[in-house]
Amino acid sequence: MDEPPAVFSYLACLFLVHAYNSAMAKPRKKLPTRSVNISCAACKTLLYKYRKGGKGALVKCFVERITEDQTTKAGVCPQCEQTFARETMIRGAPAFKIIGGKVTVK
Ligand SMILES: [Zn+2]
Repeated sequence: MDEPPAVFSYLACLFLVHAYNSAMAKPRKKLPTRSVNISCAACKTLLYKYRKGGKGALVKCFVERITEDQTTKAGVCPQCEQTFARETMIRGAPAFKIIGGKVTVK
């Protein structure tokens, strides 16, 4: 009589499985090896060194792929104080959404 209803153990189990999966199923793909310099388009100050995957324009960058961070305020150029990116979350990972035309990538 004092055993908890089975549904509770079932829910607790579901919750644990979910917690485990979200902890383990993080995108742990191999990081791209190509590193690019992201600079402010206005004053050419280096902002980030970044491991960029794929080709094409940089529209977002994942915080975990930034290898060198020269900024003092997230998304703001330390030199001319122009905002070049906004903080966001992409599939649960913190990232920056680059504002079009505010940075150059080399
Ligand atoms: Zn700048």
